[in-house]
Amino acid sequence: MSGDSFSSLPLSKAQLANLDSLGYQKMTPIQAQGIPHVLQGKDLIAQAKTGSGKTATFGIGLLNHINPRFFGVQVLVLCPTRELADQVGKELRKLVRSTPNIKLVLLCGGKPFGFQKDSLKHGAHIAVGTPGRIQDHLTRETLNLEGLKALVLDEADRMLDMGFADVINEIIEQTPENRQTLLFSATYPDTIKKMCHSVLHEPVTVKVEAEHHDSVIEQAFYQVKEHQRNDTLLALFEHYQPETTVVFCHTKIQCNEVARFLDSHNIEALAIHGDLEQRDRDQVLVRFANKSCSVLVATDVAARGLDIKSLNAVINFELPRDPEIYVHRIGRTGRAGETGIALSLFIDSEKMRVKAVEEYQDKPCVIENPKALNRDAKFAVHPIMATMQIDVGRKNKIRAGDILGALTGDAGLAGSQIGKIDIFEVQSYIAIDRKALRKVLDYFADGKIKGRSVRARMIS
Ligand code: ADP
Ligand code: MG
Repeated sequence: MSGDSFSSLPLSKAQLANLDSLGYQKMTPIQAQGIPHVLQGKDLIAQAKTGSGKTATFGIGLLNHINPRFFGVQVLVLCPTRELADQVGKELRKLVRSTPNIKLVLLCGGKPFGFQKDSLKHGAHIAVGTPGRIQDHLTRETLNLEGLKALVLDEADRMLDMGFADVINEIIEQTPENRQTLLFSATYPDTIKKMCHSVLHEPVTVKVEAEHHDSVIEQAFYQVKEHQRNDTLLALFEHYQPETTVVFCHTKIQCNEVARFLDSHNIEALAIHGDLEQRDRDQVLVRFANKSCSVLVATDVAARGLDIKSLNAVINFELPRDPEIYVHRIGRTGRAGETGIALSLFIDSEKMRVKAVEEYQDKPCVIENPKALNRDAKFAVHPIMATMQIDVGRKNKIRAGDILGALTGDAGLAGSQIGKIDIFEVQSYIAIDRKALRKVLDYFADGKIKGRSVRARMIS
């Protein structure tokens, strides 16, 4: 029995079988270091990069502490954004499958309050959500944390960046003193240190070093004048020709401007930032994940924790002040053995930021001349797929198979012309080969899914 096998942990047979069925063959480094402490009820500070398996670190550990016969919230997980809370909720649901009768409720903004209130009234053991909405529930007394056993602060650094410090402290005041507290953070700035000091009790610290190797992420820096930023960005696309890219900007205005600029130069791009309406954010994420958009222009907050697989390039339209953020951004490319590229633009007054990255990575940054970029002016990004929205969803008991069946059967599409299908509460999104769009729209003009007429439209 090796040290990183789940069977080395005091877990039930059902739990081990469940992990096996999820394809979890062995613990990730953060899990191997963290879970034993969580099982022992210790407070924990865990520092590890995105995708290292932090959710299961607390999920597996805390599941054992839950009493299914007590119908109150025993585990509370605070996340910075709704997307992250969704992801954590999904992962936890998979992990609790082996333990009957454990209920989980998501408490996030942008969703009906009443529905969450009812779920809480019927007794939920685990609550996952964003600080704002959880505070709302506490204020309206629809959530009671007196029976709380464990509190998880997930992506704590980002929550503080987003200005949630006061709200988090107010929530903590409503939890029992003897609770277990776990704090997860990709970075460990002073603000987090302070928070750890005030809310954790004799914590154990585990840290897994970021594993970014040169062989995996190729980094280059380009010095430009402020007025050359846009054109050099274009030059980077024309030279490197990445298939999927996230361009990082500081502000929402910049995101919109850069996305518009790229669009007007045949590079279809979408902007995502914290100010978008929830539904618009969902749509942008769906379109990026289903490959009907392959360039995203994002702020750090909006891109945080996105489960973006196989990203070819990360471009920093501006360098962040904090080198940890730089490393975090570029860590989104070059995953799982693939080579990624990380490109950064900086102006004279941002030279200090390049220096900071050099010191942080403990190696020189490669400064390239933008004039040396080999431009192919014909380069364009027009994804093969487009996204169609239909006005039926989970609420109508629609499943992906129903949609697939209607499109490949009655509408006459080939299976290969249909991509990812995302089902939401009252609507669904379907990735469709652009060449087949007409056919689909014609079909939905009077066609049905599961006997129901549906309204369909292309989103663009
Ligand atoms: P983080 O919170 O550290 O960014 P997640 O907890 O979201 O990472 O996990 C990232 C992905 O890895 C998820 O898809 C999860 O299902 C998967 N995963 C987690 N632990 C394991 C494991 N031990 N073996 C295989 N896959 C795992
Ligand atoms: Mg996570």
